[in-house]
Amino acid sequence: MPDLSPQGHLGEHLEKSLRESLCLPENLRDEKAIKIAGIVEESFSDGPGIRFVVFAQGCRHRCPGCHNPETHPFAGGQKIEVRDVLRRMRKNPLLDGITLSGGDPFEQAEGFGALAELAKKNGYHVMTYTGYLFEFLLEHGEERGWGRLLTWTDLLVDGPFDLARRFPPSRFRGSSNQRIIDVQRSLSWGARDPRVVDMSCRHGPLI
Ligand code: SF4
Repeated sequence: MPDLSPQGHLGEHLEKSLRESLCLPENLRDEKAIKIAGIVEESFSDGPGIRFVVFAQGCRHRCPGCHNPETHPFAGGQKIEVRDVLRRMRKNPLLDGITLSGGDPFEQAEGFGALAELAKKNGYHVMTYTGYLFEFLLEHGEERGWGRLLTWTDLLVDGPFDLARRFPPSRFRGSSNQRIIDVQRSLSWGARDPRVVDMSCRHGPLI
């Protein structure tokens, strides 16, 4: 169990992230549009099956060794309407799902929540990456509006990237501290315990 106490290093980092996230610019709080760093229309490595990957613009976790530092500034990126993302997805009948990566999609939870819901209602599997921990998202979800994105996510890869724990490479995770969580099973347990999925030795379509 990660140490989320205010005294713990991770707890301190996450509380600081939360304080800073309260100062987000208004243009990132739009449920019709999102600010993105880019899109990969077909990927085999960002989740199970064939994925449409959307990289959110903006991240405040600043993990040392992050592979996508260009996604950190909130000022950059380009705006795209949520419904236009779905339109682009529909052009590829082979897609299994959408992966929301970053940046951190939870910094634009309104727009990415709407996108996750739209994708899910159109039959796509939804996988979301975040630098926050699942427990932290639950604890602060109400005040930060994180609930919709969490609710419409199937698999959540949580926690900051830890350079010291990047080896051995693990499927769909940057470092071994990150967990792949079955969100729906976790929430349905009532106890809201994270149900961690082991994808390390599976092959073929997983959804
Ligand atoms: S949460 Fe992800 S995008 Fe943000 S700094 Fe960490 S690794 Fe990079």
